[in-house]
Amino acid sequence: MITHTAPSLQEMEKAWKINDPSYDGVFYLGVRTTGIFCKPSCPSRKALRKNIEFYITTREAIFAGYRPCKRCKPMESNGKPPDWVAHLLSAIDDKPTERYPDAYLRSVGVEPARARRFFLKNYGMTFQAYCRGRRLGKSFEQIRLGADLDDVALGNGYNSHSGFREAFSKTFGKAPGRSRSSDCIVTTWIESPIGPLIAAATSEGVCLLEFSERRMLERQFTALRQLFKKAVIPGKNEHLMLLESELKSYFEGELKEFTVSLVYPSTPFQKKVWDQLLKIPYGSTTSYEAIAKRIGSPDACRAVGTANGQNRIAIVIPCHRVVNKSGDLGGYGGGLWRKRKLLDLELGILELA
Ligand SMILES: [Zn+2]
Repeated sequence: MITHTAPSLQEMEKAWKINDPSYDGVFYLGVRTTGIFCKPSCPSRKALRKNIEFYITTREAIFAGYRPCKRCKPMESNGKPPDWVAHLLSAIDDKPTERYPDAYLRSVGVEPARARRFFLKNYGMTFQAYCRGRRLGKSFEQIRLGADLDDVALGNGYNSHSGFREAFSKTFGKAPGRSRSSDCIVTTWIESPIGPLIAAATSEGVCLLEFSERRMLERQFTALRQLFKKAVIPGKNEHLMLLESELKSYFEGELKEFTVSLVYPSTPFQKKVWDQLLKIPYGSTTSYEAIAKRIGSPDACRAVGTANGQNRIAIVIPCHRVVNKSGDLGGYGGGLWRKRKLLDLELGILELA
């Protein structure tokens, strides 16, 4: 796995606001309303902050369904690519839904192995993966908008349905027929007064809510995909929309109990602990010891602490309400300062929204 050293969100926002060219190649921004991604110095008119998503690599932006901006050319942010690469990029820009097999590469005088190596080294994906990402970005959008699968397959340069299915599952882990919102995990960012949260839901309910560094996304998606055996695609469903509105009123101090459906596959022990967490009333705290006693394992404080930390649905399954017996805060995956703020908000001694 490729690891990144990512700047903080604040740092990226600042660089984006002032079009700082020294951040070109460090991060990218996708504009939700246009489906285009840019480098920080792009001279185009600025989109609203709420429509911007930050990405650390071009690969992530491509696989989230964005296409490179023709004005600032983000694929060229680490120096101008050689002519032969520039030609390939612009050919794909013109017709992103076409296929570009080895025979095509040879016909334009490019050795396929060379293209593969160059893309892998410079963009973190092979040439074919790039082409696939561009085609599938389009397909994603259409599938989300409810287009007929046959139209999507034929319209995007796949000469057979099986080829489309294979390509889709290779990149996203599941065949397209199963990637309707009814059977895949949709994921989105939710802004909050204490930092953005990544949220995900199946058709049954919310399955992830975590404070997250954007660079952790890929790892979280992989974990989700493995846990649920479903594709993870950007988007929203009714559970995520309900979650978003409930979180908003929670942070305004209005909402005391969430009603959104939850999905949390677990070991029997985790289930016992998480079910107990759900019973801790708003505005109060309990200790790891007390929970251990309540689930009939008084000696399992440490295991309770571990299970508490493994909670995937922050805030809604209120693991922040568990503190040390001594009264000090204990730990929190999202950062202790957030735990403090959540507790103070619930006690009514802090206004966040
Ligand atoms: Zn741009």
